[in-house]
Amino acid sequence: MKKSLPLLTCLLLSAFANTAYSNSVQAKDLPFAIAIHGGAGTIEKSRFTPEKEAAYRAKLTESVEAGYAILEKGGTSLDALTAAINILENSPFFNAGKGAVYTHDETHEMDASIMEGKNRQAGAVAGVKHIENPINLARLVMDESVHVMLSGAGAETFAKSQGVELVDNKLFDTDHRYKSLQRAKAKMKKAKQENKDYQAAHSALDTEYKVGTVGAVALDKFGNIAAGTSTGGMTNKRFGRIGDSPVIGAGTFADNNSCAVSATGHGEYFIRYNVAADICARVQYQGKTIEQAGKEVIHDVLMPIGGTGGVIIIDTKGNISLPFNTKGMYRASKSNGQMTYVGIFKDD
Ligand code: ASP
Repeated sequence: MKKSLPLLTCLLLSAFANTAYSNSVQAKDLPFAIAIHGGAGTIEKSRFTPEKEAAYRAKLTESVEAGYAILEKGGTSLDALTAAINILENSPFFNAGKGAVYTHDETHEMDASIMEGKNRQAGAVAGVKHIENPINLARLVMDESVHVMLSGAGAETFAKSQGVELVDNKLFDTDHRYKSLQRAKAKMKKAKQENKDYQAAHSALDTEYKVGTVGAVALDKFGNIAAGTSTGGMTNKRFGRIGDSPVIGAGTFADNNSCAVSATGHGEYFIRYNVAADICARVQYQGKTIEQAGKEVIHDVLMPIGGTGGVIIIDTKGNISLPFNTKGMYRASKSNGQMTYVGIFKDD
């Protein structure tokens, strides 16, 4: 005669089976994804040798895959985007960390911010000069301070208190950015000789001098989205100028109720039009998809007023959108179970 199991054992076994089943469904089916950018601007194929293009594509791939590997192993969206951004900050190709553009005084001043979608926690640093990876300091501001944004010397005192080593500003020097500063200065000088005021002369600078930031957005297996952005700002900037990148709502935003956004472009426009938060507000309150909301803000709002740039957007379902209104934007993404996408030019 078959011996039947006691009722309690049966209940326990069935509860365990259900948990095991639902866990395996979660692990397999929950979406996770990451997207990164390395700046938008005058990025045209004619300006690239095949070797240069391949090198940029390889760096973007390395960054997005490093972030993806963390998500795949069950890491958080914050950890994934920080790792992806560190790779771009450490590369001289991009305007963040090593490779940051020069200020008018031939130094580097960097801005960064990070935001978590599950609770709208955020951290930012502005105008830091001696921090190798500004995104890591932004994260420390979020995790270890009672503030959201720290600037300049104060931010660096906080960094020291957290055991972050301060580095020489020269670490961020690169020849190509130095040449770019000299070209920008020459253009400004010429504009002044033509009797243009500072504002008009500055507007005469090509987008090449105004863009190039890095950023990442990610969705982890826990359903949380996050966004981060890091930049050297704008070539030839003066007077302690701060762009949109460290401004929560302008250059970076994340809320699990809508989306996570990291921006790159002419920061003054992105601040005035509160770009990242506006995109997410359209998703949350108007029921738009991230694709519709991103297109509206980047093309319909910013384009007509001359606000050049782009954004990367992710939502909690793992949808990704990468709109920009410039000639190109360094970008890459990877969603679970899919091939890595890498783009530089409009038609990629
Ligand atoms: N948005 C940055 C700034 O204005 C520049 C960039 O995206 O490259 O500082």
